[in-house]
Amino acid sequence: MQDSAVERARNAGKRLFHFHGGLRLHHHKQASCQVAVQSVAIPPRLYIPLMQHAGPEATPLVGTGAHVLKGEPVARFNEPSIGYVHAPTSGTIAAIARQAITHPSGLEGLCVVLKPDGLDRWTRLQPMEHWQSADPELIRQRLCESGIVGLGGAVFPTSRKVEEARNFGIHTLILNGAECEPYISCDEMLMREQPDKVVLGALILQKAVAAEQVIIAIEDQMEEVFSALQAAISNADCTHMRLVKVRTIYPEGGEKQLIQVLTGLEIPAGCRPPELGLLCQNVATAAAVAEAVTEGKPLVQRIVTVTGNGVKRPHNLLALIGTPISTLVDACGGYTHDAARLVLGGPLMGYALASDQNPVIKAANCILVLSNRDIQSDQAEMPCIRCGECARVCPALLLPQTLNWQIRNDLLDDASDSGLGECIECGCCDYVCPSHIPLAEWFRFGKSEHQLLAMERSQSNLARDRYLAREARLEQLKQDRERRLGEKKQALRDRTSVTGGTMGQGPA
Ligand code: SF4
Ligand code: SF4
Repeated sequence: MQDSAVERARNAGKRLFHFHGGLRLHHHKQASCQVAVQSVAIPPRLYIPLMQHAGPEATPLVGTGAHVLKGEPVARFNEPSIGYVHAPTSGTIAAIARQAITHPSGLEGLCVVLKPDGLDRWTRLQPMEHWQSADPELIRQRLCESGIVGLGGAVFPTSRKVEEARNFGIHTLILNGAECEPYISCDEMLMREQPDKVVLGALILQKAVAAEQVIIAIEDQMEEVFSALQAAISNADCTHMRLVKVRTIYPEGGEKQLIQVLTGLEIPAGCRPPELGLLCQNVATAAAVAEAVTEGKPLVQRIVTVTGNGVKRPHNLLALIGTPISTLVDACGGYTHDAARLVLGGPLMGYALASDQNPVIKAANCILVLSNRDIQSDQAEMPCIRCGECARVCPALLLPQTLNWQIRNDLLDDASDSGLGECIECGCCDYVCPSHIPLAEWFRFGKSEHQLLAMERSQSNLARDRYLAREARLEQLKQDRERRLGEKKQALRDRTSVTGGTMGQGPA
């Protein structure tokens, strides 16, 4: 990355810029922001999925019948930088079984089923009392052991992001509080109610990556958040921390879009923000970091927005990971008579859930319950009329109509060359498409198919390499054998000629 770009990144937030496209949407957040965040009662069973982010499932560390305390590890990921899955409360392991998990695929996954004992007793917690003077590596290890992941939806392991950031050298930590998707308000409520924790988490992350400054970015309509965070920053006496209001436009909270707004720099395809000296983290992740480090508490709960016309009393709820979604809906007064569809996430990036028995996962920022009124407008897909509206709003500067055509025609490599990997699945193109083509859904499908293709290719390349290596080995063995045989024959010939030379002489 050029030095001038890195220098420009250092001035992040001093001047604001625009990104291409995007949408101005009605944000529908008031309904769930009327009352304070409430805790959901512990349900009779918790279903803790062992696949909470990309990659393979974690391996269970407990067996059926074992008693666990809140915060004890119940499974471990094989990759050391991801860490553990923890018991969200104390109780007995009722089963370890495959069942429907909260995932766009709708497939089953391995879950630890926990029967709570009702005592909610913590395991022995080990706060890092002197984190200010601790080795940054110890902080990173703590984040890993505590199962901290990005809570903005991507659920990327935070310890791995911190490690990558340290390798590149970071000057600016950006806390992303620009919760731009309509209906979702869990971050807004967290920043209003626990601004000190967010600021503390920012300071810990700053220490972990040795950043010179911190920027907390929020939307310009978040007035209450602004006052709360401003007070928390001055209480903590952070001279190197700034609060920046960004325009309310979707998808301003996307990592690349937010960086572009704060720095004017476009992150090139294939590059990561740390290459510019920037690290982006969600505000809820920062709060989880503060709990993990200063209280020793692993990530076992999160705030979930439960909202939409299909639920009686929209709320933000603090729920244990593994709580069935039906429990959250009940805590909001239940479904309205015309509730019709459950969505995990917001209306643009979320995905439909098959059942309300699916459990809350770390990525669950919002449960959106749509009513018949909301989905009456679902219209049949029609052919593309090449109007170009999708390209006009695409924040990643892609040509969605071309990508769509390529994927539908199995031209996955062409789609990849056209920038499919840069699609952030924001759904802006779907939103404006007059032909009602589910473009983002096709792009999600295209990405997973292309990934599969790449895996198959790498497996067949591996098989071909193994075959060629075996052929070369056999050829080498053959040559060695022939050489040894030749040497033996030669030795025999030499011996024979020596023996022949002394024959007939006999003893005197
Ligand atoms: S918005 Fe829809 S109809 Fe228009 S070009 Fe894009 S895909 Fe085609
Ligand atoms: S979903 Fe992808 S292609 Fe469509 S607007 Fe968003 S980034 Fe562009």
